[in-house]
Amino acid sequence: MGRFYNINRIKAHRSYVIEEVAELLGVSPQTVRQWIKDGLPALTEQRPYLILGWQLKAFLKEREAARKQPLKPGEFYCTGCKAPRTPALGLTERTTTSDGRPMLRAFCNVCERPCTRFVSAA
Ligand SMILES: [Zn+2]
Repeated sequence: MGRFYNINRIKAHRSYVIEEVAELLGVSPQTVRQWIKDGLPALTEQRPYLILGWQLKAFLKEREAARKQPLKPGEFYCTGCKAPRTPALGLTERTTTSDGRPMLRAFCNVCERPCTRFVSAA
């Protein structure tokens, strides 16, 4: 699947239900559910699930980047360098998003920008 999603249509400060995301991006609701399994952060404590616009954007950008330049384990995609980077000093911090999803955080070894990488719960 080499398709691009028009992430500019996603409003960062809005939250979306799965069906809205599907319609906005022209994918099936099953695809969106698969993204959640793949690590897309969603508010899953209530139904319908809510996906925050900025998290959806970040997730899709990361996927797009990963498709172009697959990340090796331990690598991060740096939005400053627009390239995969290894963490500065080899340090990664395991953390969670505000809704409790696992996430890795590190600093780019080239431009020292903070980088995050969503990790699937599996
Ligand atoms: Zn960088």
